[in-house]
Amino acid sequence: MATYVWDFTQGDKDQKDLLGGKGANLAEMTRLGLPVPPGFTITTEACRAFMRTGAVPRELAVEVTTALRKMEDTLGRRFGDPDDPLLVSVRSGAKFSMPGMMETVLDVGLNDTTVHGLARFSGDERFAWDSYRRLVQMFGRTVLDIDGALFSDALDAAKAARGVTSDVDLDADALRELVGTFQEIVRTHTGSPFPQDPREQLDLAIVAVLGSWNTERARLYRRKERIPDDLGTAVNVVPMVFGNLGPTSGTGVAFTRDPATGKTGNYGDYLANAQGEDVVAGIRNTLSLEDLAQRDPGAYADLRRAMRQLETHYRDLCDIEFTIERGKLWMLQTRVGKRTAPAAFRIATQLVDEHLITLDEALARVSGAQLSQLLFPQFAVSDDRTLLARGMAASPGAAVGAAVFDSATAQQRAALGEDVVLVRRETNPDDLGGMIAAVGVLTARGGKTSHAAVVARGMGRTCVVGAEAVDIDLVTRSFRVDGHVVREGDTLAIDGGTGEVFLGQVPVEPSPVSRYLEEGLDAALDHAPDDDTRELVRSVDRLLTHADTVRRLHVHANADTAADAARARRLGAQGVGLCRTEHQFLGERRVLVERVVLASGDDERQAALDALLPLQREDFVGLLREMDGLPTTIRLLDPPLHEFLPDLTDLSVRVALAHERGEDAASDERLLAAVRRMHEANPMLGLRGVRLGLVVPGLFALQIRAVCEAVVERRAAGGDPRAEIMVPLVGSVQELRLVKDEARTIMAAVSAERGVDLDLPVGVMIELPRAALTADRIAQEAAFFSFGTNDLTQTTWGFSRDDVEGAFFAQYTDNGVLTVSPFETIDALGVGRLVQIAVEQGRAARPDLTLGVCGEHGGDPESIRFFHDAGLDYVSCSPFRVPVARLEAGRAAV
Ligand code: ADP
Ligand code: MG
Ligand code: MG
Repeated sequence: MATYVWDFTQGDKDQKDLLGGKGANLAEMTRLGLPVPPGFTITTEACRAFMRTGAVPRELAVEVTTALRKMEDTLGRRFGDPDDPLLVSVRSGAKFSMPGMMETVLDVGLNDTTVHGLARFSGDERFAWDSYRRLVQMFGRTVLDIDGALFSDALDAAKAARGVTSDVDLDADALRELVGTFQEIVRTHTGSPFPQDPREQLDLAIVAVLGSWNTERARLYRRKERIPDDLGTAVNVVPMVFGNLGPTSGTGVAFTRDPATGKTGNYGDYLANAQGEDVVAGIRNTLSLEDLAQRDPGAYADLRRAMRQLETHYRDLCDIEFTIERGKLWMLQTRVGKRTAPAAFRIATQLVDEHLITLDEALARVSGAQLSQLLFPQFAVSDDRTLLARGMAASPGAAVGAAVFDSATAQQRAALGEDVVLVRRETNPDDLGGMIAAVGVLTARGGKTSHAAVVARGMGRTCVVGAEAVDIDLVTRSFRVDGHVVREGDTLAIDGGTGEVFLGQVPVEPSPVSRYLEEGLDAALDHAPDDDTRELVRSVDRLLTHADTVRRLHVHANADTAADAARARRLGAQGVGLCRTEHQFLGERRVLVERVVLASGDDERQAALDALLPLQREDFVGLLREMDGLPTTIRLLDPPLHEFLPDLTDLSVRVALAHERGEDAASDERLLAAVRRMHEANPMLGLRGVRLGLVVPGLFALQIRAVCEAVVERRAAGGDPRAEIMVPLVGSVQELRLVKDEARTIMAAVSAERGVDLDLPVGVMIELPRAALTADRIAQEAAFFSFGTNDLTQTTWGFSRDDVEGAFFAQYTDNGVLTVSPFETIDALGVGRLVQIAVEQGRAARPDLTLGVCGEHGGDPESIRFFHDAGLDYVSCSPFRVPVARLEAGRAAV
């Protein structure tokens, strides 16, 4: 068997690595007995050799000759035969479809002699010269690297000279002349005539297609789609069949189901008397497949049969390129077709109902990313929307609110109950408060990994970035765009799924699928506008339910408040994996915390702590009520100290001013001294987490007591509270021991006071490499591990999440250091390795250790798969990601 050349009769659909997607599927269709022109594939191995050495492998020429002869024998036609020439197309085709990125050359084999043979065989002079014209043009541009504009200008000139506007109005004479002009262009720009030897044309076209793997745009596309650069493309050499041989010929594309909506039935476009690319080029209005059925029932029946056969065989939606040559059907391409999110769910369950696939397989066919697309509120479509600008769709959703231009205003107005859209040139960590307060974020600068985009996606906030036309003036608090001036307070509507920015109110509505998740199946079905929507909702319900039955990973939610917990539970959360208590210390309680931290004596501190206790207890009572019967993991205070203290600069200025005015500033001075004393150069690596708890007496004790009392209160109310205490930022088992001792004392005290029996599990967050590496020791004291993969990523890579996104991530993605932000998808090799080590060591030391993850990664599809494989017990994510995590955990298990 040849090494680099595979006949279509040899391969099959599973050989995409070697034959590329197009080649593998052409081979599969050949095996199925479908009418495929008898071609061959030059393997990706040849392309890789070409990339290594800059030349095609020496054996290739001989192997191509053998394959070509066989093709000629099968067809009874010869390449270069002046009377009845065989023509071929030379088509790129990589493992992953890269639409329009690489080259294809049609009609190879035409020259000054064979063009006459083609005219005779077809009985159509015009067709023959048009094909030749196309060859010289396509070959000139892609193989000989001549500027394509030269050809199109000459084509335009020819049309102008004859007073016609369309290519198809050029007659045979005009096209013959044009071929002469094109050949002249080739001679001028290469110094040689257009190659007349068909075999030379073929060999050059093959090299050009191999080379098109590495064009700038192909590389760019691969980087974007995360396709490796070293795969290479295959080259398919396919005998030409002609859809442009008169009214009984034509060409089209077809889908076995509607890829946009998922509706059953055949869909497609057909163009009579046309060649392949004409359909997509939109030069004439296409016909539907029903029209084809009218025009040519025989060919249509063949096509239907082929489509059905393909769908049964691939057991999935297929898309197809076909050509009809004088009533005879030819299949030129098929693949499992791309589809929208709703189509993915509907088709998957349709195929189950048709007994073509199992529910497990159906589950594998949909993704969490698709589910999340179905969850965002939608703008109701209407005619009177004013489109202001377009940016990049960074985080989906439909947000309407008053335009505001800084974080503080966003927070003020939002606090008054107003919906606001935060508009910034770009955002930075200082805008976080405003981003949280806003319903949507719009930036003029930045791409999909910009701070705004990443943060907004992380919290499910609608976001459009890089709307370059938006020109912000912070002085007048307004922006100009496209002749409009939008002032602070004017209403904006942004669509994070499309990148569109509208002026004024555009009504939104919850999507049918989110209604299903929030209110249940019946409510969603009642509310659905049509049968298509009802089918979609039922599909999601079936697949999600199936995911719940097969998944091993539990799904918990990160919820800080009772309201969040309630929502998470409605969405299917089986517990709270992370309750961040620091959010409970902001706002008006901040002063109390400030007093705790800065207290000059024990009495003062205790007074402040006592004031906090009932507030904190009520927080936990609410949370435990909503999560009754389910594990509720409460993390002790974590954030860096400075977040609770007044800003050093502000305070210094205040004191200086007071001095100047001769005012008494004694208390501010005292505060300033304390803030100075505690000032840290790098607070994120400073006094935070367990360190803060051990340094500031009574702080953790307060929280632990509040948890204990809340548990007692819930029990008294007949509830089943399952509180667990989590210690953040532990690096040494001794830190945990100290906190545990304190916790035990408090539990014993509360037990005694209330006459109950309290023994709450105490566990740790694993978010420092040292904790992972000493997991065996830590596990001896910890009831559970919860991987805090946000911090673990920061501390493993040594870069700060808040600073790097804007600083160098874009460049790091461009130059390939990173393919995706490690804060979005777990860095399996580095951070993931630490997780594996900790799992292994932790379980070895304590077999009943519960293992979970509570970083952002807990809601990321790829990461969930990793955590499943790593053997964790649960993932915990934002409430709105819970359904996605349920689905992905199910997919990981099938
Ligand atoms: P792409 O991957 O960009 O779709 P293709 O290799 O599929 O490129 O070819 C482009 C067009 O040319 C397609 O519409 C295809 O149907 C048509 N085509 C390719 N090879 C032949 C052939 N041997 N005979 C007739 N049409 C062809
Ligand atoms: Mg194609
Ligand atoms: Mg942390």
